[in-house]
Amino acid sequence: MANDDEPKSHLFGIKNLSHKTLLQSDALYQYILETSVYPREHECLKELREMTEKHPRNIMATPPDEGQLLSMLIKLINAKNTLEIGVYTGYSLLSSALALPSDGKILALDVNREYYELGLPIIEKAGVAHKIDFREGPALPFLDELLKDESKKGSLDFVFVDADKDNYLNYHKRVIELVKIGGLIGYDNTLWHGSVAAPPDAPMDDFVKTHRAHMIELNKYLAQDSRIEICQLPVGDGLTLCRRMI
Ligand code: SAM
Ligand code: CA
Repeated sequence: MANDDEPKSHLFGIKNLSHKTLLQSDALYQYILETSVYPREHECLKELREMTEKHPRNIMATPPDEGQLLSMLIKLINAKNTLEIGVYTGYSLLSSALALPSDGKILALDVNREYYELGLPIIEKAGVAHKIDFREGPALPFLDELLKDESKKGSLDFVFVDADKDNYLNYHKRVIELVKIGGLIGYDNTLWHGSVAAPPDAPMDDFVKTHRAHMIELNKYLAQDSRIEICQLPVGDGLTLCRRMI
């Protein structure tokens, strides 16, 4: 129970678009964007980001500083075959596609093709659509089908998971077999608006409250999974990197 003498804790939820980060100062986040991110953002990523900002579900988009990190990681590990679960209008997808070599491939899964098609003309303009194999439908049965093919096991260099939060543990159980030893998985939104560290009775938006327990369960699971090394980054809404060791 909250103590009435305590100062009122803030609501865990969506703030505003300029503050898609857990940093406690908007000014500092703007500094990062304006100094290190926007000046280097590909013109098509900028166009996709600005188009997405006008969409009613724009809160779902990957922030540009996180897109920059995904691009850096893909290049650092020389990724060639990748998987993305949760595409929306395609900011993380385009950032990844631009980072891959010309013969690189991204298998991109989303239940909603309409979102993907909003960004597709810009992805085509960027000249990287040939790297993308988009499949519409729920990701879980699709991954189960993939796993029936022995040749797909250990075939991926990089996976970015950014879809339905209640399925992250189910995705992990499958994706860990699809990624190669030494490959990388990124789970997005693992700090879930900061709510994972909040007391259960803290004021929260309903949708934050709904998935808070899933994120806490995932974080606990990843922390004890001896098949992976992990690194929890406070980028965007929290990104947990997992490197498959065995
Ligand atoms: N990575 C995206 C970006 O950079 O803009 C944001 C993805 S958004 C947070 C989550 C996406 O997951 C939505 O586009 C939604 O349609 C999709 N989604 C939700 N449930 C899904 C499921 N079961 N399988 C595949 N995609 C799903
Ligand atoms: Ca996300």
